[in-house]
Amino acid sequence: AALGVAVSLAACSGGRGGTGGDSGSGDNKGALVGVAMPTKTSERWIKDGDAVKSGLEKLGYKVDLEYADDKIPQQVQQISNMLTKGAKILIVASIDGTALSDQLDQAAEQGVKVIAYDRLINGNKNVDYYTTFDNYKVGVDQATSLLTGLGVLDADGKETGEKGPFNVELFAGSPDDNNATFFYNGAMDTLKKYIDDGTLVVGSGQTGFTQVATLRWDPATAQKRMQDLIASTYSGGKKVDGVLSPYDGLSIGIISALTSAGYATDALPIITGQDAEAASVKSIIAGQQYSTIYKDTRQLADEAVKMADDLLTGTKPEVNDTKSYDNKVKVVPTFLFQPTVVTKDNYKKVLVDSGYYTEADLK
Ligand code: BGC
Repeated sequence: AALGVAVSLAACSGGRGGTGGDSGSGDNKGALVGVAMPTKTSERWIKDGDAVKSGLEKLGYKVDLEYADDKIPQQVQQISNMLTKGAKILIVASIDGTALSDQLDQAAEQGVKVIAYDRLINGNKNVDYYTTFDNYKVGVDQATSLLTGLGVLDADGKETGEKGPFNVELFAGSPDDNNATFFYNGAMDTLKKYIDDGTLVVGSGQTGFTQVATLRWDPATAQKRMQDLIASTYSGGKKVDGVLSPYDGLSIGIISALTSAGYATDALPIITGQDAEAASVKSIIAGQQYSTIYKDTRQLADEAVKMADDLLTGTKPEVNDTKSYDNKVKVVPTFLFQPTVVTKDNYKKVLVDSGYYTEADLK
């Protein structure tokens, strides 16, 4: 019954969407696409936004690209405005994956299709497609690189026999970002065995997701937590050997806390990251941060553009995963990409040879 209501509403209010109010029907040449991004404080989202915008414009679409300063009401307002302006498709990288239900309901009433970008939108059936990287695998890769950096695993992922014990601390991302639990679960499924057998010792004892989460992925919050951990757990000569960090911005905060506490820059713990942001790649080259996870934002942007174009021209978008991403109401058809671990050893090949950065960007 609920479905019937949605369908008839869409049919009545379909003025903007052309005949039938469906994004895929009618003439959508030059249609407006709304692109909602979370924040400009992290370089990756700027690259994502720019790439999605230029890809859509090349195909003749108009684009309303907005950034929300990591503020939920601002993003809600921006998406409402996009719908008022007559956007035919929404591409959304949400701040809080559960806060957009009213806007998604309105989109469905107007026959506007919704593509979740990188972050899944939860708790609403009007999420039509999703494109992202394999988020669980990102967490596995982060944990594996932590173990490699510590010498527990070799470059092929085989155990070396090194049993430590190593003192480690764990950080997770923002609890309202669906990806954060995927990253953390992937990492913890990989680390658990080594925590259980005593190779890794979480000095603070803080291993629960809510204990280690970092609201809004805020670097200052991570820096403060690392400072507190050093003060509470690592006094009297006890050292931190490794830190699981889920995002480069947090890694920068964590490194600041460690250097302020007297760790030398050439004797930092093994610290992971994500996004291959220029500042962190430089830190990796300088031997401070150990690893990051590269996710080619150009690939993701191209895919979102392709999905939008397909929907606007009445073609069914191609997906490669129809089971991993359940948003609590439906399993959202997804196009998944694979992440790549980057260290000092392979950054040139992965980041420079691919044209993601020039050598000069990393100087
Ligand atoms: C993204 C990561 C990013 C994080 C913080 C996540 O949703 O998947 O790539 O590091 O948000 O911006």
